[in-house]
Amino acid sequence: MEYYSLNGSSQKVSFKEAVIKGLAEDKGLYFPEQIDPLSDEFIKNIEQFSDEEIAFNAIKQFVGDEIPAKELKQIISETLSFPFPVVPIEDNISTLELFHGPTMAFKDVGARFMARCLGYFNKENHKEVTVLVATSGDTGGAVASGFLGVENVKVVILYPSKKVSEVQEKQLTTLGQNIYALEVNGTFDDCQAMVKKAFLDTSITDFKQLTSANSINVARWLPQMFYFFFAYKQLKNLTKKLVFSVPSGNFGNICAGMMAKKIGLPIHQFIASTNVNDIVPNYMLTQLYEPKPSKQTISNAMDVGDPSNFIRIQKIYDNDFDALQKDLHSYSFTDDETRQAMKHLYENCGYIADPHGAVGYLGLKKYGLPPDAFGVFLETAHPIKFLDVVEPVINKKLTYPSQIQEVINKQKKAVFINSYDELKSFLLDN
Ligand SMILES: *Cc1c(COP(=O)(O)O)cnc(C)c1O
Repeated sequence: MEYYSLNGSSQKVSFKEAVIKGLAEDKGLYFPEQIDPLSDEFIKNIEQFSDEEIAFNAIKQFVGDEIPAKELKQIISETLSFPFPVVPIEDNISTLELFHGPTMAFKDVGARFMARCLGYFNKENHKEVTVLVATSGDTGGAVASGFLGVENVKVVILYPSKKVSEVQEKQLTTLGQNIYALEVNGTFDDCQAMVKKAFLDTSITDFKQLTSANSINVARWLPQMFYFFFAYKQLKNLTKKLVFSVPSGNFGNICAGMMAKKIGLPIHQFIASTNVNDIVPNYMLTQLYEPKPSKQTISNAMDVGDPSNFIRIQKIYDNDFDALQKDLHSYSFTDDETRQAMKHLYENCGYIADPHGAVGYLGLKKYGLPPDAFGVFLETAHPIKFLDVVEPVINKKLTYPSQIQEVINKQKKAVFINSYDELKSFLLDN
């Protein structure tokens, strides 16, 4: 399968190159050259297939023959080692829980799939690569866990000292093996600036092959299609029109849902639910795409002022606003509304939602489901990951799930750095 850059001035590349490069030379996002619908027969009989078979069918055209079927099936099986349950909330609303992976964030699937693809391509190269990432919290944990033990791949994660939660810090700093944590005396922006500088520094790249595990990588983006197939499989018997509300920040997850629809999954409507970072809700009203500096909210994994995947969404709809508007509604919610939704869900439905899932729920409410429709909001993180926000709202102590308890008890191991030169020495010496 070939991929081209959405900026339009780079050479086409293979899936392998798109995964290794991440971003095209002209800084554009990669997009598949061709998209073929799945057979009607497959969609009609989807409940007869296992999750792994569904995932294989959904993604194989995007990988092509660059990973043989047997290996691709193995990668999928290792990626999907946890459940994706649809949990009833109200009469015509359920939630799809995406947080049962090792770091309890939905990014686990993309990170695990990408890590294994990179590991596969690297086996042929026999050359060690270093994945360098800056994290403000959740991404780093998912990437670290996803890459743990992958051969010939070393992961170096930079995180801002004292600016991530205790759980997040432990998830980054306790894995060992091929995962190295650098605690930076600075902010997330400082971490990101250092990483960017390193990628351009030939006094490092002449000696070390650096790569990023950025969320725009096709191997992180495309496996998110699986979620929508898994939900459809569980809800098919309802014979109602499916409406998905996706709590959105960089818009990768919802964009993958739109790809799932493009290859044949019968999804009636998408709702992109955001916090006050309302670039896309505004765009849907005005047709003007106006990036802004991001604002801090309680659903902080969605604090994005220039959602990078929106350009892929426009491409899926051939830049036809009317077609997009038919499929996509987008609404923005304040922190107060989000807290009220969390409280409502707990008191009336007995459900503890995290702030991101609560924004998704609000989207379905605002849309107003017609009687022949059924709404699913995606729950993208376990509430324990945002316990500072959740506990006071529902006035209840949360219990730690085993994945988190295990990590909390482990010893933190990080290297403290103050400057870019210290990062450079670390990369060259390790
Ligand atoms: C990353 C993230 C999101 C946003 O997903 P996008 O694909 O960037 O839109 C939502 N919720 C949580 C918990 C996340 O970590």
